[in-house]
Amino acid sequence: MNFNKAEFVISAANKRDFIHNDLPQVAFAGRSNVGKSSTINRILNRKNFARVGAEPGKTVHVNYFLIDNQLYLVDLPGYGFAKVSKAERDRWGKLMEAYFADPETLDVGVMIVDARHKPTADDCTMADWFKSTGAPLIVVANKLDKVKKSQLEGNLALIRETLQLDEASELIPFSAEKGTGKERLIQTILEKAGLGPAIFAQ
Ligand code: GDP
Repeated sequence: MNFNKAEFVISAANKRDFIHNDLPQVAFAGRSNVGKSSTINRILNRKNFARVGAEPGKTVHVNYFLIDNQLYLVDLPGYGFAKVSKAERDRWGKLMEAYFADPETLDVGVMIVDARHKPTADDCTMADWFKSTGAPLIVVANKLDKVKKSQLEGNLALIRETLQLDEASELIPFSAEKGTGKERLIQTILEKAGLGPAIFAQ
């Protein structure tokens, strides 16, 4: 399994365009600006594959990337952007509802939160959405490079408690900027998706 072999497949603005086939789907979600695009770019070893800093209003799409012909990485639209219109928020809600109601979409959930802060109410809602599917959930605590070492353990405990994660849900300290946690995140995704381990170039 080679995570460097990634291709963009489709940007779905409508549930008609959701992909249904036998390949596992790993869906990434996170509050706008939490570093979701940076995290995806980091694990795919790309500079600007998922769009970093995409403008609000242009992000209500579900973007599919095919990894090594074996797995879909699904980039769900960000949430919690204070400045978006009600119409935009409604569009987001409808699309997410359709995605999560579809039994053939999600196999593994990846939720990105900020390692510095207590998860927001929106984060909790998103975690509940993931949990309602019964699919394994991985939580990525991003921006680790901005957290003091002495505070990390407490922050991780707060994230686990606030999102009410069960023991099976993995919480991975991560820095999209530095690359910390990259291999652990990839291996965990593959394990939860039932695929063999990734091979990393030395
Ligand atoms: P998205 O809206 O969730 O896709 O977030 P982006 O990937 O566009 O990142 C938002 C901002 O956070 C950008 O300025 C990134 O450079 C920055 N960022 C993302 N990940 C990290 C990280 O691990 N550490 C630090 N310090 N900044 C990060």
